[in-house]
Amino acid sequence: MARSVSYLTGSQLLSLKRRPNIAIIDVRDDERSYDGHISGSLHYASDTFSDKISNLIQEVKGKDTLVFHCALSQVRGPTCARKFANHLEEIKDDAGIKNILILERGFNGWEASGRPVCRCTDVPCKGASASN
Ligand SMILES: [Zn+2]
Repeated sequence: MARSVSYLTGSQLLSLKRRPNIAIIDVRDDERSYDGHISGSLHYASDTFSDKISNLIQEVKGKDTLVFHCALSQVRGPTCARKFANHLEEIKDDAGIKNILILERGFNGWEASGRPVCRCTDVPCKGASASN
């Protein structure tokens, strides 16, 4: 039985984001460095995503909801989310992750709706939300 991957909207993400058990995974490539990002999001570029899946699993330990996105969430975001879901199937360990979601319309849609964009250069982004 394949794990399902579903979509959520920017406003759903905005309210979910307050929970501590959610991780946002940005799979854009170079764009992240000049377009800003969603605060607190992790960066796992799509071009090296497959190689880094185990790092990602380590990094999201204790989270139960992962939200993937790229610029538009049409190709890279959904592809990486499915790769991740398939990987959990293969290793037969769900790593405590209950929900694998994709942010509809991606980062561009997020920004276009006037939602908060972080422009820090910290790796990982600390997501200090005071200014958001
Ligand atoms: Zn940041």
